[in-house]
Amino acid sequence: MQSIQRVDREAISPVEPVTRQTFDEVLVPTYAPSTMLPVRAKGLDLWDQQGRQYLDFTAGIGVTSLGHGHPAVVEALRAQADTLWHVGNGYTNEPVLQLGRALTAATFAERAFFCNSGAEANEAAFKLARKYAHGKFGPHKSRIVSCVNSFHGRTLFTVSVGGQSKYTEGFEPLPPELQHIPFNDIDAARAAITDDVCAVVVEPVQGEGGVLPASPEYLKALRELCDAKGALLIFDEVQCGMGRTGKLFAYMGYGVTPDILTSAKALGNGYPVGAMLTTTEIAAAFSVGSHGTTYGGNPLAAAVALRVLQTINTSVFLSRVEQAAQHLVGKLNAIVRDYPQVFSLVRGSGLMLGMVLADAWRGKAKDITKAAEAEGLMLLIAGPDVVRLLPALVVSDAQIDEGVTRLRRALDAVLAANK
Ligand code: PLP
Repeated sequence: MQSIQRVDREAISPVEPVTRQTFDEVLVPTYAPSTMLPVRAKGLDLWDQQGRQYLDFTAGIGVTSLGHGHPAVVEALRAQADTLWHVGNGYTNEPVLQLGRALTAATFAERAFFCNSGAEANEAAFKLARKYAHGKFGPHKSRIVSCVNSFHGRTLFTVSVGGQSKYTEGFEPLPPELQHIPFNDIDAARAAITDDVCAVVVEPVQGEGGVLPASPEYLKALRELCDAKGALLIFDEVQCGMGRTGKLFAYMGYGVTPDILTSAKALGNGYPVGAMLTTTEIAAAFSVGSHGTTYGGNPLAAAVALRVLQTINTSVFLSRVEQAAQHLVGKLNAIVRDYPQVFSLVRGSGLMLGMVLADAWRGKAKDITKAAEAEGLMLLIAGPDVVRLLPALVVSDAQIDEGVTRLRRALDAVLAANK
């Protein structure tokens, strides 16, 4: 039989040009992307179809923390692509074992489960917590407590645990035994965490909910309440982990250790990967066949994530994140002082920052990010009242200065237009 390995380039039909309009023609309308269509990027610089340059202060929503096309990460992906792409879970592979070893050595965890996204990491965490409590205490211990305005992903389970009803409307019936409590409210936590709770899940810094850090007292109280009631404490570090706050994981800055931690986003710097980390004792609630996913621990993803982790988890890298954050916060506070009609304050942790809109501009965060984009600066919102900044952690002081200059120009333009 003849081999079909040789690529017959003539048989591959040419790809038709596409524009932003194509999105509306062929994709399910779950997003409303900008009219600007990015085609290429390096570091924090990004170019659109027209060749216009932008400074990317979004990192693809907290993903490309080492910047676009980081040479060490590209090299790891290329080397792995030449070696082994995929084997399936009937086999393990070297990159996933190395990644598991590196993540457990770097954190409280002793065991890792790999998947493809933040939602899947949380789905695994919630299932594990249920299974653990079911086995140890019985089926009555099944309630999961989470916070109002939290975000944990879009599978039916994770979106239901998330505390934003706008994302669950129309998808009922939702999974039962879930309760939402106000964030940073210790009394509400005390009232909610009773004997039938199997897990409490919290983002140490709420991202989508408005860039709100948990208070240290709050996380300490959750830890104590979980210990007292035999519930597991889950930290969702999908957005705030992997160096974003200046620590490898945010829990390290709080000095409060969870039972389960979830990571994704920046773990792969753009290559889809998620991880759930936990202890040996808790992991033992899962056995062969309890949970799984075809791509979990895929060699390509694992090789990339290992290189990302090795690059971020050094004291030099992490202290530079803190320095860059200080520089950026100083500049943003100056903007708040100069534009008090637009912004009321800056909040966040490390390079995960939110500029909270003043009363007169409430609900208009998108107007500001659009104006910024017109000036060549990509920003995010975190709800309608907060402009969110998640630049790559490798951002230089000069790039911060340039980004802030562009933001000031955008604010002048938006104020002139609203006169
Ligand atoms: N958890 C948090 C805190 C997030 O910010 C997100 C995404 O924004 C998720 C979970 C879901 O991650 P993914 O979109 O990779 O499923």
